[in-house]
Amino acid sequence: MSLTAARRATLAALADSLLPHGGALEPGASDVNVAGQLDSYLDRCAPGTRRTVNFMLTAFNLSSIASRHVRTFRMLGPAGRDAYLAECEKSRNRQRREALVALKSLILMFFCSDDRIKPLIGYDGQPYKKVERDPGIVPLEVTKPDKGFFEATDVVVVGSGAGGAVAAKELAERGLKVIVLEEGEHFDRRDFTGPPPERLRRFYRGNGLTFTIGVPTVSLPIGRGIGGSTLINSGTCFRTPGFVLESWGLDGAVLDPLFEEVEATLNVGPVDDDIMGANGEVMDRGRRELGYSGGPIRRNANGCHGSGVCAFGCPLDAKLGMHVTYLPLAAKAGAQIISGCRVDSIVIENGHAAGVRGSVVDPETGAIQRDARFEVSARCVVLAAGAIYTPTMLQRQRLANSSGQVGRNLRIHPGCGVLAMFDHDLHAWKGVMQSYYVDEKLRDGILVEATYPPPGVGYSAGGVGGKGSDLKDVLARYPQTAAAGLIISDTGTGRVRATPGGGLLITYDLHADDLRKTLEGIRLATEIYLAAGAQEVHTLLPGMDPVRKRDELSSITEGGWTAADLKLSAYHPMGTCRMGSDPQSAVVDEYGRAHDMPGLVIADASVLPGSTYVNPQITIMALAARSARRLASELN
Ligand SMILES: Cc1cc2nc3c(=O)[nH]c(=O)nc-3n(C[C@H](O)[C@H](O)[C@H](O)COP(=O)(O)OP(=O)(O)OC[C@H]3O[C@@H](n4cnc5c(N)ncnc54)[C@H](O)[C@@H]3O)c2cc1C
Ligand code: SF4
Repeated sequence: MSLTAARRATLAALADSLLPHGGALEPGASDVNVAGQLDSYLDRCAPGTRRTVNFMLTAFNLSSIASRHVRTFRMLGPAGRDAYLAECEKSRNRQRREALVALKSLILMFFCSDDRIKPLIGYDGQPYKKVERDPGIVPLEVTKPDKGFFEATDVVVVGSGAGGAVAAKELAERGLKVIVLEEGEHFDRRDFTGPPPERLRRFYRGNGLTFTIGVPTVSLPIGRGIGGSTLINSGTCFRTPGFVLESWGLDGAVLDPLFEEVEATLNVGPVDDDIMGANGEVMDRGRRELGYSGGPIRRNANGCHGSGVCAFGCPLDAKLGMHVTYLPLAAKAGAQIISGCRVDSIVIENGHAAGVRGSVVDPETGAIQRDARFEVSARCVVLAAGAIYTPTMLQRQRLANSSGQVGRNLRIHPGCGVLAMFDHDLHAWKGVMQSYYVDEKLRDGILVEATYPPPGVGYSAGGVGGKGSDLKDVLARYPQTAAAGLIISDTGTGRVRATPGGGLLITYDLHADDLRKTLEGIRLATEIYLAAGAQEVHTLLPGMDPVRKRDELSSITEGGWTAADLKLSAYHPMGTCRMGSDPQSAVVDEYGRAHDMPGLVIADASVLPGSTYVNPQITIMALAARSARRLASELN
């Protein structure tokens, strides 16, 4: 077992206080052994995840000593625990609240994923419309080494996500010998089963527990596997708006044909009515009522049956991530794709990037295999490890950083959830997970997207206020609940730093302007839901009562909320090796070529010069295609 007896007792005490037996849902946390389930789950997680959860439990248990209760949480009686939890929820002491929110998210995820609870909250976990079909996916052959190796190639691509996969295909189709090295495992649709915690553990970096440090703490999940974050993303495809490209100095007319090609390869199109689901339908009703702009989201899918679990891997391969599109095309053109290979350094010869070195890792645990060093020598290196790992790899070797910008300018698109309860059943998990958008305030950096993860996960979990019978009431109303997420185009920036011992630190403080935008976004989503007929809207702001009428909307924007009051998550890290023509202020040029390292091209989210204002995947792909074509013309 991963938890000490004392920590497990803290977990059980907290779970029981949050979810006691009785109320609108009869079973309590102890009836389904949430603490035991979480403890044995941690045994299968990475050591870092166990450390994080242990730390959170200790911090939470001790936090009540500094309150009026003057004893650890575990030592309090049931009434004291209840009182302390109520105080935490409303507390403006963010450490106290954040530890509770994080632990509550885990507890609710295990509780709601339990087969004894799912039917009670009306969640059958079954596909919306079961379709047994093969969307014609080409099988992908991936090499999985069990020991070290040496290879030579024209181009080595590090990372197989949105950037790396597209670069590999473009280079291979132009006759170059390409090797793609990916740290994660090769999963396919047969793997995309089981409850959400298991899927978080397998398909997400750090088992889904990755965060930024700052005010507030922001959850920043990242995918890990062949296909990168496209394996577990929501499939939303927006072109970066013209006004944004213009501000970056990029010509929309040059990028348009690239967007068209990407969209054709990924079969991008709007969500059909038959798989929209009620979560999108209520947003459509509300935004039409208000006359706001928006519509069905365009997605990379083929044969989608609206099972609503895109962020946990598509069980049908209907979502056309890189593992079923660009990577098979790259392989068809001769690229070799290798999993379980963590690159840790770039080989430099005569001042030129000439290959990479690294270790074969256990794809499950990330542990380095014995005697498993590998080296791939190449004429050119394409880095596409994502906006967190690409810069830290460069920092460790002090490479490509004469601008001093490597790791800086981190944008993440912070956002939060809003829940709305209606007087009738919606079963909002039936249908596409991210289905509908409202872009009325896009130019101000606010995008609202109807997003409903499985019950008990994400927005619908840790952010939900209350405990005991109040919390049970909310859970029992899941069938009548709709959910939306915000994407805030951040004015502020954070930073990624490599730390000794191979670790890294992501720091990010919410900028005052982004706080304003977030509150306006919450207000906008609330307004839309009220216009759609919601009985009450939960803003997830600490201690705030549900909003029931339009004239209460101002309490969201004028309530004096601070950054520390927000429960944020973000899914779009970008900008940490930004693109630009000036080597003094940018890391790469407009074709991703490092200004001060010949032979090195960066082709992932790191190069984005600023916030895309919209979900970024197809922008990353379009830019990667452009950079790869230029590189191919230089190498051929
Ligand atoms: C839950 C979630 C939902 C999202 N939804 C959407 C959406 O709907 N629409 C959208 O546009 N965007 C979405 N995104 C964001 C989008 O998926 C990413 O912006 C995009 O995939 C980033 O592309 P990338 O190539 O920079 O990195 P990634 O796609 O993350 O790929 C990087 C790859 O590099 C590998 N890697 C890292 N370090 C090493 C190393 N040292 N050696 C070898 N390999 C390494 C990683 O394991 C990973 O597979 C979502 C993201 C998440 C997490
Ligand atoms: S909703 Fe998402 S997970 Fe379900 S079939 Fe469609 S693309 Fe796949």
